[in-house]
Amino acid sequence: MSERFETWGKTHAVVPAAWASPADEAEVAEVVRRAAAAGQVVRVVGGGHSWSDGVVTDGVIVRLDRLDQLLQIDEQRGLATAQAGMRFRAFNEALAARGYAVSIVGSIDQQSLAGLLATGTHGSSLVHGNLSSFIVAMRIVTATGEVLVLDEGDERLPAARVSLGALGVVTQVTMRVERAFQVTESNTPVSFEAGVQALTTLAGESEWAKLWWLPHTDAAMLIRAHRSDTPATYSPRQRAFDERVVNARIFKGVLALGAVFPALIPALNRLVGAVYFTPRTVVGRSDLVLSMAMPPVHRESEWAIPAEHAADAIRRIRAAIEAQGLRVNFILEARFVKGDTNWMSPAYGRDTVQIGAYVGGSPDREAFYAAVAAIVATFGGRPHWGKEAAFDAALIRRVFPMAGAFATLVRQLDPAGVFRNPFVRRVIGS
Ligand SMILES: Cc1cc2nc3c(=O)[nH]c(=O)nc-3n(C[C@H](O)[C@H](O)[C@H](O)COP(=O)(O)OP(=O)(O)OC[C@H]3O[C@@H](n4cnc5c(N)ncnc54)[C@H](O)[C@@H]3O)c2cc1C
Repeated sequence: MSERFETWGKTHAVVPAAWASPADEAEVAEVVRRAAAAGQVVRVVGGGHSWSDGVVTDGVIVRLDRLDQLLQIDEQRGLATAQAGMRFRAFNEALAARGYAVSIVGSIDQQSLAGLLATGTHGSSLVHGNLSSFIVAMRIVTATGEVLVLDEGDERLPAARVSLGALGVVTQVTMRVERAFQVTESNTPVSFEAGVQALTTLAGESEWAKLWWLPHTDAAMLIRAHRSDTPATYSPRQRAFDERVVNARIFKGVLALGAVFPALIPALNRLVGAVYFTPRTVVGRSDLVLSMAMPPVHRESEWAIPAEHAADAIRRIRAAIEAQGLRVNFILEARFVKGDTNWMSPAYGRDTVQIGAYVGGSPDREAFYAAVAAIVATFGGRPHWGKEAAFDAALIRRVFPMAGAFATLVRQLDPAGVFRNPFVRRVIGS
């Protein structure tokens, strides 16, 4: 029997008919041709770090772990070309070794390049878009096994930057990078109301900025970062301690306790707030400081709404948690993404705030997700493709202006549906 696939967040599991681990683009093409001839669906797994079912198929799951090299840095144009299966951490390390960096990173760096780009993974900045917006060229093995080469002159590149894996197997990407830089990141604990009020100016004042709020408490935290040349204080040891001890043991234990005794969640949150929502400043290499210690397994839903509604949305989510007595044992997060022109990007056409609704083992997860979904719907909320969100093709057509054009392109490039698993069908319709 074939190996089982399970998402990092334990949201989906499947035993595909077969796995494939091609060593180069020609082998990827062969895998796709064979699966297409056999009528099997093909999906690629990157790091498996999405909560959504993008990878899930009972057909063939392709692992690109052998396509993991940084191929070239074009110093004149500030571009880096890498194979699509390269992990983000390895990419950042390879860039740093050559004196380069990406301008934005998400919370973690375990994903593959193609995986994080396929879902519009973002950090928090109104100066920079999501990571997909940095793509200037791609190579994609399409349903016929042919290689589609897209560059900035190709009108399909804005469709392919956030591809959802629906156009084919991405084998190579070229992204804009910049000279390596350091940042100073500061955590400032504030009250809920002060944090929410700060949302209107926060992203305009700092190149990177986000807000956390701990439900059932008045504890919020402003996290801001700017470029700096002061001596580095970032400690790999501290990061390892945070991952292996604080998160993997203490925080995991707190989440487990809340899952077994949900009535304790408000008190546990107050404890967590008192211990962790404290002032802190770290200086160091941009990708290390802007990312975080790997958290324990938990669940995440996330929606993108116009940036100007950030405060209103967060206040309404707090009111819903209180009115419905929802027990939520994880932070609520507000992060910013500069608007772009990429068809399926949650930041398409508007500066955006991403509202992250997270939870670790609470019995109220579904009710919480539903409450958040209802609130963001009033602002034209768009789902984060890598997280948990209930949507169908009708909702997607309403909130993504280019969804119809994307569906048409998917059907042109893949008429037989070689890459069309249930996730893609929910996006483009049957
Ligand atoms: C702890 C944690 C923290 C996170 N933090 C953030 C964050 O800060 N910001 C944010 O935006 N997101 C965040 N995410 C979400 C994560 O970045 C996305 O879900 C991302 O897509 C995961 O990358 P992956 O390589 O694991 O992709 P997978 O989950 O393996 O795949 C994602 C999708 O991409 C497709 N795909 C993968 N490779 C290819 C390829 N070569 N060609 C075509 N399609 C492909 C897959 O089929 C699937 O549909 C976080 C996730 C976790 C678990």
